[in-house]
Amino acid sequence: MDEGKLYLGIDYGGNTVKLGLVDAFGNLSGRDSLPTSNLLDKVDCRAFAAAVGEFVHGMGIYSSELGGVGLAIPGIVNRGTYLTPNVKADWPLVMKSLEQSLSKTSISVLNDANAAALGELWMGAGENARSVLLVTLGSGLGSGLIVEGQVISGGNGAAGEVGHMTVVPGGRPCKCGRAGCVERYASARGIVQNFIEAGESGDYDPAQFSNHEPVNDTDALAVFDAARSGDPRGKRALAVMADKLGFALAQVACVVDPDVILLGGGIAAGADLYLDALKAAYRSYCFEACSSTEIRCATLLGDAGVYGAARYAMLAAPRDKSQRDWLDPDFGL
Ligand SMILES: [Zn+2]
Repeated sequence: MDEGKLYLGIDYGGNTVKLGLVDAFGNLSGRDSLPTSNLLDKVDCRAFAAAVGEFVHGMGIYSSELGGVGLAIPGIVNRGTYLTPNVKADWPLVMKSLEQSLSKTSISVLNDANAAALGELWMGAGENARSVLLVTLGSGLGSGLIVEGQVISGGNGAAGEVGHMTVVPGGRPCKCGRAGCVERYASARGIVQNFIEAGESGDYDPAQFSNHEPVNDTDALAVFDAARSGDPRGKRALAVMADKLGFALAQVACVVDPDVILLGGGIAAGADLYLDALKAAYRSYCFEACSSTEIRCATLLGDAGVYGAARYAMLAAPRDKSQRDWLDPDFGL
């Protein structure tokens, strides 16, 4: 990397595209966001690249001052192929357009969850660690994995997909087509389902129920409120969540033994209600040598992806551009 240059991090989300310029010391000197749009043809891609270029130039930065661009995308990145079911984009065309808009600055692409994990490892709650697992608890359960400083994507681009680890064989059906995935128990949607099943279990006197009821199938915040008010359904919902997630994390630890496990996403906001139970569950299931692994909340929140994408570009920068312009996560850092 060139310590005198700035690196552009682009975190391409389902609703918003976040942009930020980051230097080699982790100073975020500018940030902006654009609405997500379809990027399927040259017109779309050129307009997007022009907007990114305007952001950079509007910060008073010439393209020549950029050391590289990191592009985090919501899906599988695997050896030059990109699968982003929730975003309609022709990624090679997007990259070509960005490269043209930014004076042939090299573009490095990685999965957004891995970007967030790399950002946390660099400037967030994973500082001083070499191996980090970031679990993002939202409507689903995403995860990013950095091992010994390397972004891990695996043979099929699916490494670290903790959300689809089976924790209940034959359990709740999952959108992935299988059943019993931890996402079905520990995401916002899973927590709400835990709450509903607790209410229907017959284990509790309805007189103990609070008036906090989820207004939709991802309203985990209502479950948090219920738990805080002593509602046994809320307490059970979070106990189930902690048990299933702790079980899954313990299995991950057996394989990659991360230095630290971080929790991000909207559901991490309720960690005060379940973190102790999660740690206890993890320790009850894990291999003894991994029992001291810390589990704590991420700190960069919405900026983690931008930091991580920029860092990825930074780490890729020393590579010979003539060998490969668009780096895959499985390309060694
Ligand atoms: Zn699944």
